[in-house]
Amino acid sequence: MSVDVKPFGKTADGTAVEIYTLKNAAGVEVRIMTRGATIQTILAPDKNGTLADVTLGFDSVDGYLSPSHSYFGCIVGRYGNRIAGGAFSLGGKSYTLAKNNGPNALHGGPKGFNTAVWKAKKVERPDAVGVEMTYLSKDGEEGYPGNLDTTITYTLNAQSELRMDYLATTDKETVLNLTNHAYFNLAGAGDGDILGHVMMIAADRFTPVDKTLIPTGELRPVTGTPFDFLKPTAIGARIGDKDEQVGFGGGYDHNFVLNRKDASMVLAARVTEPASGRVLEVLTTEPGVQFYSGNFLDGSAKGKGGKVYSKRFGFCLETQHFPDSPNHANFPSTILEPGKKYATATVHKFSMK
Ligand code: BGC
Repeated sequence: MSVDVKPFGKTADGTAVEIYTLKNAAGVEVRIMTRGATIQTILAPDKNGTLADVTLGFDSVDGYLSPSHSYFGCIVGRYGNRIAGGAFSLGGKSYTLAKNNGPNALHGGPKGFNTAVWKAKKVERPDAVGVEMTYLSKDGEEGYPGNLDTTITYTLNAQSELRMDYLATTDKETVLNLTNHAYFNLAGAGDGDILGHVMMIAADRFTPVDKTLIPTGELRPVTGTPFDFLKPTAIGARIGDKDEQVGFGGGYDHNFVLNRKDASMVLAARVTEPASGRVLEVLTTEPGVQFYSGNFLDGSAKGKGGKVYSKRFGFCLETQHFPDSPNHANFPSTILEPGKKYATATVHKFSMK
């Protein structure tokens, strides 16, 4: 296993960006840049050992700078997914966020964690290699209270597990919900849509949304709906169904309530691409996962190697707390208090069958 670092261009204000390359003996290679703590490349072998880049992104930092970049591979924060009306109250105080998604706030606002250049250093351990990235989000940044110290450690091991450990502390009560927004196409990024990928999500329930994609607060059983992925099912099998929820999302864009008995790491999802045999398993300590079927990709992004990312050319499995939790007392809490530690972990395991 090895970890390497190289320059990777500059942001618009001239800040230098670096890219870390993690490799293991199975041929898996993961490249992570300091802008947005973003996964830029994941090379994974198929059943014949042929490598393909299975995550969407750009060849250079410039591609990521456009505001309509769809959050390829980055860390989203301070609050992943939507907050209704860009408003919440905490400790008796009201907070107002920028509305950057119709009437709502999305992914931490226009200057979310995806736009920051993170400090980084190599991780070299006997069992894994990686990169530790840190970012201090200042009190009041994008409307959120408290100086939030954030560390994300990406590690890759010999079993082809890409692990993300998220840690944060604050000096004022705040809310947060951190995740990674990588888009996957296990046939190879830019090589067609993901409708033939076979998806399993270990969730008996999901959180239905209104037409602006804000959860209604209900935890609805998936039984008898297009959201039942307990048995592995092609993503495309029911995506065109006449179903109000699929209609609101323009496909899948919903939070699933993961089945769990305690707070330990559980298998959230398993995705198989039948032709290549590539398999992605996602394990997490989080209570939910946002399954987004890339409905808003529209071909305007010219990705790596000049490949175009059209509608549903990638899917995301964003492990998370539920969207709009600050406005739903019945959802698991996203509040972090001073003196307490926010600690979550997610593993993306690559294999083939
Ligand atoms: C959201 C989508 C959004 C996408 C890209 C996902 O997490 O749920 O609605 O379009 O991120 O911003």
